Amino acid sequence: MLKDVFIGLSKNQFLTSAAKKYGLKLGAQTVVAGVDIGETIKSIRELNAKGISCTVDNLGEFVFEKEEALKAKNSILEVIESIHSNGVDAHVSLKPTQIGLDIDYDFCYENLREIVDAASKYDMHINLDMEDYGHLQPSYDLLDTLLKDYDNVGTVIQAYFYRAMDDIEKHKDLRLRIVKGAYKEPAEYAYQTAEEIDANFIKLIEYHLLNGKFTSIATHDHNIINHVIDFVEKNSISRDKFEFQMLYGFRKDMQLDLANKGYHFCVYVPFGDDWYGYFMRRLAERPQNLNLVVKQVFNKRTNKAIGLAAGAFLLGRMTKKSKKRR
Ligand SMILES: Cc1cc2nc3c(=O)[nH]c(=O)nc-3n(C[C@H](O)[C@H](O)[C@H](O)COP(=O)(O)OP(=O)(O)OC[C@H]3O[C@@H](n4cnc5c(N)ncnc54)[C@H](O)[C@@H]3O)c2cc1C
Repeated sequence: MLKDVFIGLSKNQFLTSAAKKYGLKLGAQTVVAGVDIGETIKSIRELNAKGISCTVDNLGEFVFEKEEALKAKNSILEVIESIHSNGVDAHVSLKPTQIGLDIDYDFCYENLREIVDAASKYDMHINLDMEDYGHLQPSYDLLDTLLKDYDNVGTVIQAYFYRAMDDIEKHKDLRLRIVKGAYKEPAEYAYQTAEEIDANFIKLIEYHLLNGKFTSIATHDHNIINHVIDFVEKNSISRDKFEFQMLYGFRKDMQLDLANKGYHFCVYVPFGDDWYGYFMRRLAERPQNLNLVVKQVFNKRTNKAIGLAAGAFLLGRMTKKSKKRR
């Protein structure tokens, strides 16, 4: 139930705009690298110094106006330039809705093409993050069209979707990130239990490790990571064919340990003032992180406004949900 509450909170536009005004609060600074690219480059340098590469996400939610989408596109172009001019080991992840997929497909395609083209000049990879089921096919359409002219683009396979194996087979020649899937999807399209999702996750990872170009295994789940380590050893798969990925601020000891053991490791580094939805989705995945929010909300006066708004909404949703429970 808590997962649904946080997913609900992540979609709240009022709290999203309120959060932008207050900077990184509620503990978000532990999982969001900064509000601007300058701060973020510093965090990337620190990770690079530990042998860890980065994929940078300029956070953005609820983009329904062309002006906002163009602003997001320009920020991403600025990120590409900053990565290049600072000489850091990083590439870019972006969400198609951020650059206009909910506004107009062709407009979004033009924005994306400009980004991929700019990155191609520096031989920099662009990852299309995958969102909810409603955006899945249009995102593949964007990708497949781009692939006619560019090879510096890849995407994400979400293991909870029944169609994931078909998608991975079609795109096996790409650098792919494989994840469990972060959104709440209906049984019509997606596995619902952790056991089914984990089993498909492993099947997809093994398939791409054996047949694909380059595999990013993006998970904080030590059972999956240990399974992958055994699998690559048994099948003599070169360490240059895959990497592990985790989100910024999560399981930092394990990140370092894997990097020190000689595995390629890449941290997903989100930044920007639009941190709220991202942070709520992380809380949905791991409600233990709520401790962090509670500490921040009740210890610092500056957090009061947003903390109370979030708290009130949370309590409201919980009361409503518990009344509605079947
Ligand atoms: C780099 C990256 C990129 C992603 N990109 C996308 C995307 O484009 N689209 C998308 O839909 N989703 C994306 N996701 C999110 C992903 O789909 C999952 O929702 C998210 O990673 C949670 O699943 P998990 O595999 O990490 O493990 P979970 O299923 O959350 O956890 C499994 C087990 O691992 C352990 N564990 C997990 N987290 C921790 C922790 N912090 N500390 C200690 N133990 C822990 C616990 O024992 C837990 O029971 C991405 C995730 C990562 C890491």
